[in-house]
Amino acid sequence: MAYQTVNPYTNEVVKTYDFATKEEIQESLATTHSLYKEWRNQPIADRAKILHKVADIFRQKEDELAKIATTDMGKLFKESKGEVELCALIADYFADHGEELLAPTPIATRATGAAEIEKQSTGVIMAVEPWNFPYYQIMRVFAPNFIVGNPMILKHASNTPGSAAAFQAAVEEAGAPKGSLINLFLDYDQVGDIISDPRVQGIALTGSKRGGQSVAKAAGESLKKNSMELGGTDAFIVLSDADVKKAVDLAWRARLYNAGQVCTSSKRFIVADNLYDDFLAQLKAKFAAVKPGDPMDPKTTLAPMNSKRAKDKLQAQVDQAVQAGAQVYYGNQPIDLPGQFLQPTILTNIDQKNPAYYEEMFGPIAQVYKVHSDEEAIELANDSELGLGGIVFSADPKHGKEVAKQIETGMVFVNTFLSSLPELPFGGVKGSGYGRELSSLGLMAFVNEKLILTA
Ligand code: NAP
Repeated sequence: MAYQTVNPYTNEVVKTYDFATKEEIQESLATTHSLYKEWRNQPIADRAKILHKVADIFRQKEDELAKIATTDMGKLFKESKGEVELCALIADYFADHGEELLAPTPIATRATGAAEIEKQSTGVIMAVEPWNFPYYQIMRVFAPNFIVGNPMILKHASNTPGSAAAFQAAVEEAGAPKGSLINLFLDYDQVGDIISDPRVQGIALTGSKRGGQSVAKAAGESLKKNSMELGGTDAFIVLSDADVKKAVDLAWRARLYNAGQVCTSSKRFIVADNLYDDFLAQLKAKFAAVKPGDPMDPKTTLAPMNSKRAKDKLQAQVDQAVQAGAQVYYGNQPIDLPGQFLQPTILTNIDQKNPAYYEEMFGPIAQVYKVHSDEEAIELANDSELGLGGIVFSADPKHGKEVAKQIETGMVFVNTFLSSLPELPFGGVKGSGYGRELSSLGLMAFVNEKLILTA
C-alpha cells in the first residue's frame, strides 16, 4: 500500500510519499551500522543528554506534533497531546536510568576469578510499528535502544507517514547523530530484505497477528532475536461486590479511548449476574452521551476510526456477529458525518460459536457477557487465543488481585484503567506475542548480556 496521509475526519488526501529506493536502503544500513560501531566506544551519558533533548523537543512541539498525529489517523487532539507528553516521559526515563540499568552485574562463582555480565549493544534494530499511537509506538523501541547503542531503522504504518517523518525530524533536531533513527517508507519485501541483512541484529514489531507472523517468520529464518507486541481481546471483569457506577465510569473510557483502537482496550466486559442489567443500562447511557465530530475540536469526545478500511472491516465483523446471533443492545446505527465514524455499540448474547467470541474488535464495540461466579469469569476471560492485558473491578482490592493472578495475560490492572508508563513493562503472552517493551525489561530486549570471566 502507498504511504499516504488521508485525514480520516475529512477524507482529504493530505500527502503521498514515495517508497524508499534500493540505494536509500543500502545507505541507511551502512549509516546505522557505522554508528553502531562508533557508539560502542562512547559513554552512555553522552546519549542520555541527547535523549533528554528529544524529550524537550517533544514537549516544546507538543501542539505541532499532536496535530500531525490527528491528521494522520484521526485521534482526538487532546489524546494526541497526551501521547506526545508520554513520549517525553519515556525519553526522560531511559535517559535518567539507562546508565544505571546497563551497569555490569557481578556474579558469585566457584570459578577462579571475577565474573560479571556486561550489557552491550548488538547492532541495528528494525522496528515495524502501527498507526494507533503513531509516536508512542516508535518511542517504546527508539528510546531504550538509543541508550543501549543500537541504531534503528523504522518502517511505520503506511497511513501514518507524517508522524514517522516528524519523529525522525525531532530526533535530528535534538542533535542525535545521523543514523540514530532512519525512517524509510518500505514495502513488505523491502522489510524482509533488511531483516536478513547481517548488520541488523534485532526486530521489534507491534501490530496484528498476521503482520507479526510474517515478520517473525522472516526473523526466524535469519535467526534474529525479535519481540512481538500483538493484539488483545482484553477482559474487563466486574466482580459481584463491585460498585457498578465506578466500574462503568472506567469501562466506557477503557473501551472508547482512541476510538477503541488500542491493543489494551477492554473489549470483553464480563459482568457478575447480580450487576449485569444495571451495568448494561449505565454503559449504554455513557455510550449514548459521546459526541462524534472534528477531532481537533475540544468538545468532541468520539474520534473517527483511522481509515475507511478499518471501519469497513469492523462493521463487517459486527454484521457477522449479529448474523450469528449476537444482539445489539445499543448502537450500530450510521453516524451522519463524512469521517470514518462507527457508533459505539454494545453487543450481548455472544456464544462460543459466534465468530465474534474469539475475534479482536479493534474499534468502539463492546461485547458484554453475564457470568455467575468468579470461576466462570476467569474461565471466560482465559478462553482466548490472546493474552495481552485486562482489568478486574471489585470493591475489595484483595479480592480483585486474587482474580487478577488467575488471568492469563501479560498485564492486569485492578480497579484502574490500563495505562502505560515508562517504568511499567508492556507486553503479552499467548497469541499476543512475546518480549516486553518499556521498563528495565524493555531496555534489555536487544542487549548482549555478555559474560566476562577474568582470572
Ligand atoms: P498490522 O497490519 O500488522 O500493521 C502493523 C505494522 O506492521 C504496519 O507498519 C504494517 O505496515 C506492518 N506490516 C504488516 N504486515 C507486514 C508484513 N507482512 N511485512 C512487513 N510489515 C508488515 O497491524 P494493524 O492491524 O494496523 O494494527 C492493529 C493491531 O496491532 C491490533 O491487533 C492491535 O491490537 C495491535 N497492537 C498491539 C500493541 C501491543 O503493544 N501489543 C499495540 C498497538 C497495537 P502497513 O501499514 O504498510 O501494512
